[in-house]
Amino acid sequence: MRQLDPSITAQRPLDCFIYALGWAEGGSTPATHLKTLQWLGKLGFQINPHIEKYRTIDEVWKHCGTWVDKRDALDYEIDGVVIKIDDLALHERLGVVGREPRWAIAFKFPPTQRTTVLKDIEVNVGRTGSINPFAVLEPVNIGGTTVKMATLHNEEDIKRKDVRIGDTVIVQRAGDVIPQVVGPVLSKRTGKEKRFRPPRKCPSCKTKLVRPEGEVMRYCINPACPAQAFRRMEHFVSRGAMDIDGVGEQLTLTLMKEGLVEDPADLYALTKEQLLKLERMGEKSAQNVVAAIDVSRERPLARVLFALGIRHVGSETASLLAEHFGSMEALMEASAGELAAVSTIGPVVAESVHSYFQEKQNRALIEKLQAGGVLMKTAAPATRDGPLSGQSFVISGTLAAFSRPEAEARIRSLGGLTSSSLTKKTNVLVVGQSPGSKLAKAQRYETKILDDAGFMALLREHGVN
Ligand SMILES: [Zn+2]
Repeated sequence: MRQLDPSITAQRPLDCFIYALGWAEGGSTPATHLKTLQWLGKLGFQINPHIEKYRTIDEVWKHCGTWVDKRDALDYEIDGVVIKIDDLALHERLGVVGREPRWAIAFKFPPTQRTTVLKDIEVNVGRTGSINPFAVLEPVNIGGTTVKMATLHNEEDIKRKDVRIGDTVIVQRAGDVIPQVVGPVLSKRTGKEKRFRPPRKCPSCKTKLVRPEGEVMRYCINPACPAQAFRRMEHFVSRGAMDIDGVGEQLTLTLMKEGLVEDPADLYALTKEQLLKLERMGEKSAQNVVAAIDVSRERPLARVLFALGIRHVGSETASLLAEHFGSMEALMEASAGELAAVSTIGPVVAESVHSYFQEKQNRALIEKLQAGGVLMKTAAPATRDGPLSGQSFVISGTLAAFSRPEAEARIRSLGGLTSSSLTKKTNVLVVGQSPGSKLAKAQRYETKILDDAGFMALLREHGVN
């Protein structure tokens, strides 16, 4: 669906069922889930015809079981059945843990397995230089999808499972997970199978690989390795990082091949004219790419930090660092000790961040990004006028989509106030995973309580993501 040209997406025969009501204002909505769906159906939304209501868990269990066989009769693929509590008042009371509501659970079908021949084991190079083996398979249809490749995790895993090239192997696929090789079918072994010989040199740059003590992976340690550069670019533009829509795998490869882009900062020097010279790049697409890159200049510091792909710095850690240091300059000058003093940042992460900024080429990259107009600012400060002005928020527990500082920054950007302690004056308590004692307190005070989904809906309502 993610196409440079939305008219391509529009041509695809996309369809969907509506499974819930996200947000409603004014007027009343039905009190149960089933009635809500029936009501939505009457309004003209497409509702799944197989929704059923049962009184006991035994009946639910029996019904779910029947779908293991019946699913093949559907003209779309399913990987399970969702069981939901019907009473919406109970949804409120049960709440949400992380991304998972307590009022709904998935009955997942067992993964579908098939056997096929393992033609070869190849490797690709990851962002950190890790050498990742994968299986090249005789194409096999698993649950409606043709599988030609499957993950083999690492060398140790191949050894442990004793998977050999030429083996008939069991491959499984479950939901959106990458297909994996479960193991060989030993009875089909002929003796002609070959053991996998891990490469000694990087397939991309031919540098001798190293395997650090105690690690299951080999690494290419050449900082100029083209394969790593590509993966770093891929990570840089990905969602959660700089989120540059339209700069996908193919375009990244082309840009690198044409020498237009060597590192992420080069993206900010790209012009529409340069893009138009590329094959299959139309006026409209080129314009979209340039616009998407431009928008990314304003991504907050936390996103930029994550996008750099510093080892051990996930999005959560990036947020903590951004919030604590406030600017790229301050972070770059921090000693390992200062970094480790930030709460929940351990010595390994601190060391990794510190040594990243000691590297001359990394500092050069950051300067180049700044020169390219990437702002690297922390999110907007408090107290400005907005739709949430005059309302005070307290966040308790872990939210699925944001760290607490990120969520608070969003509230403040809409004019709301944030605090860490709940009082009778608090207007809204936002509740994430493991909320602690504040939830009970808020119930006593009759403070308005928003769960994760409700909070997201509130942000969306005001155009914040
Ligand atoms: Zn390499």
